[in-house]
Amino acid sequence: MPIPDYLKEIAYDETRKDDFTSFRLKCKCCCTHFHVYESYLNNSEKELCKPYYDALERSVTGGYFSSSTQDENGMIHHWIYFTHSRNGPKEEVVIPPKPLFACIMVIKVKCSECGNEYVIYDSRLYGNNGVFCSNPAEKEYEPHFKLKKRRDGLPVEICISVEHTESYEEFQKATSYDFITFSNAFTWMVIYSNDSKNKKRKL
Ligand SMILES: [Zn+2]
Repeated sequence: MPIPDYLKEIAYDETRKDDFTSFRLKCKCCCTHFHVYESYLNNSEKELCKPYYDALERSVTGGYFSSSTQDENGMIHHWIYFTHSRNGPKEEVVIPPKPLFACIMVIKVKCSECGNEYVIYDSRLYGNNGVFCSNPAEKEYEPHFKLKKRRDGLPVEICISVEHTESYEEFQKATSYDFITFSNAFTWMVIYSNDSKNKKRKL
């Protein structure tokens, strides 16, 4: 199975096992140590997500029990019941749309020698969902990044495993997309760091 095309230039030491391909990252300057940054929601964005999460929580735990119904237009309605009976008092909980940025996850690494940055995962672009299911409006969002802090503050080596559960032939038959798209449409990705003490940790 292939290395995702967007990581090809910085991948080395490739190994394959079953549906998994594993490799390590090397900057174009040949350095193999990186600082890791991940996207986060700032306070005002978290505030914008609150009505959604609050309503979701209330739809599950707000009553004695809850249920969902679908109306003739296909709309789902969420109900909470205030007694043990479906005929007793109930209330509809309207769940507002989830803000687009709420599910966006981007991870990038910065070379500890030359400072070059590489995006190693972006939920809007990569992986099967990113390639086929992401909302184009999500791409306008500019994520904020924070350094994934480590106690020793030292850069780490990065190892990545990706899984493709179907062959390129099967993929092409189903979608007619090219090999580059196939390589980026992995079903699963695991990112590991390896520190100076050779301790491997899942990111
Ligand atoms: Zn570099």
